[in-house]
Amino acid sequence: MKVKDFPYKRYELAEGKKAFEEFKRKAEEATSAQDVLNARKEYLDELEKYITNASLAYTRYTLNTRDEFYLGEQMYYDEIGPQMNDFNTQYADIMLSSPFRAELEKALPETVYPSYMCAKACHSSEIISDEQEENSIVTEYSQLMSQITTDWRGEQKTISFIRGFVNDKDRTVRQEAALAIDKALSQNSEKLDDIYDRLVKVRTRMAKKMGYDNFVKMGYYRMMRIDYDRDMVDSFRKNVLKDIVPVVSRLKRNTAKALGIDDFKFYDNDVIEGEGNPCPKLDEKGILNAAKEMYHEMSPVTGAFIDKMLNAEAFDVTARDGKWGGGYCTDFPAFKQPFILANFNGSAGDIDVVTHEFGHGLAMDFVYTYGDKEANIGTSETAETHSMSMEFFAEKYMDKFFDEPDRYRYYHLASSLTFIPYGVIVDEFQHIVYENPDLTPAERNAEYLKLEEKYRPYLNYKGLPYLSKGTRWQYQMHIYESPFYYIDYCLAQVVALEFFADSLSDYDDALNRYFEHAKRGGRYPFNKLVELAGLKSPFADGALSITAKKVEKVLTELKEKI
Ligand code: ZN
Repeated sequence: MKVKDFPYKRYELAEGKKAFEEFKRKAEEATSAQDVLNARKEYLDELEKYITNASLAYTRYTLNTRDEFYLGEQMYYDEIGPQMNDFNTQYADIMLSSPFRAELEKALPETVYPSYMCAKACHSSEIISDEQEENSIVTEYSQLMSQITTDWRGEQKTISFIRGFVNDKDRTVRQEAALAIDKALSQNSEKLDDIYDRLVKVRTRMAKKMGYDNFVKMGYYRMMRIDYDRDMVDSFRKNVLKDIVPVVSRLKRNTAKALGIDDFKFYDNDVIEGEGNPCPKLDEKGILNAAKEMYHEMSPVTGAFIDKMLNAEAFDVTARDGKWGGGYCTDFPAFKQPFILANFNGSAGDIDVVTHEFGHGLAMDFVYTYGDKEANIGTSETAETHSMSMEFFAEKYMDKFFDEPDRYRYYHLASSLTFIPYGVIVDEFQHIVYENPDLTPAERNAEYLKLEEKYRPYLNYKGLPYLSKGTRWQYQMHIYESPFYYIDYCLAQVVALEFFADSLSDYDDALNRYFEHAKRGGRYPFNKLVELAGLKSPFADGALSITAKKVEKVLTELKEKI
């Protein structure tokens, strides 16, 4: 069946309530651990219907944010989400207090019980209305961002469309695009500040009701982080400052020199020397065909999965007016089908869709066969290792997509490394904001600028009236929509770079370790998964310095070839 033909049916809150009550009754009447496990299975199977329909509604809404029916459905799930969540917390409570707990803990993946504790630590029935408010503000932001348009060469275009030109090989085009984004944000400045302000306030209020000083700890529990904390993240950021920032600074200095630029701007940061960034030689159809060929050559596992995706028409990659501007991979578990949304724009980013998002999809598909519905693909840093590592395993096949594959390899590797300092800025910014919830918009922007100077001393925003105030974060949707979900990309990037370094000496061994890693999904916590995959923990002392050195060496070699 094609994704577009998947039947949608609104999941009624009453169904969720009934399923939960059924579970509760059976768990209370249970005379063995097996009885509880059976009740759990039934409850999770029922929840799958909710997840699938909510995911269908979300997907169809993002495919056309002007579709009133699915917008309405989206609002409905925003509203019942916290109540469904509440059943889950009660479910977690029952599992936690079960007289068979010791046996249950043994029978279930080791992450499941800690995840119950996290669920309890970030939700209670007292904050349901705050959670509902938060959801609706988030929807307000995503609607605003997909509808903000500005004049671009005589036509009204969205920020996500214009972003493609910020990496143009022609510096005047990059500047023009950056100015257009600057203007679009500036015209919506009040709304963007107001939305964020309300989000910070509502999140802080919830955290206080839950007994925390501020939202930080609660945010970590929401991310289900069970084997690392704020202090470990802090040392990770320090490692980035010590071991990655100098390498990226050198890289950018060299690029600036090669480009003949002496005032390296924010819009020069994602451009490489020479003929500009590599663009795929293929159009949309060509890219999907080349991906099919690549995955069949890579392994039978990836070959079968790309066929499944293409047969179900599970890639929607054409940029359209009204379509949500980002990209993601989700799934409809009741149909055992992942789905990928993207907005192709002719840039190298289009290739990330068939590599990065494909990696997410593959891991989701593994869960249907090897996984546990609750442990699923794991917490987000784990999930991002699946996608970011696949980007590097695909590098071997880049001749299918590019006339100059080494140019792409250089570009991809350089941008993967370049990303890490930005990622830690986004993370540290949020720590500052939630630890100081009373900062005014101007104070927040000033903090953001300080972080730019700390982690990206090689670039500046001069000449961009709005962005130079420290507002770049306003179109970083995670900051609004998923607090603290960003360091995950940095941690995962380090893991992906490690897989990459290993693949250079033994590709098949690294690929097989990657498959085994993805099959483990979320059945183990992050640090243990990294260890089981035979990699170094990104938190470990020196892990970043070894990786950064290897990457710098490969970059130097590639540069000679291009
Ligand atoms: Zn991803």
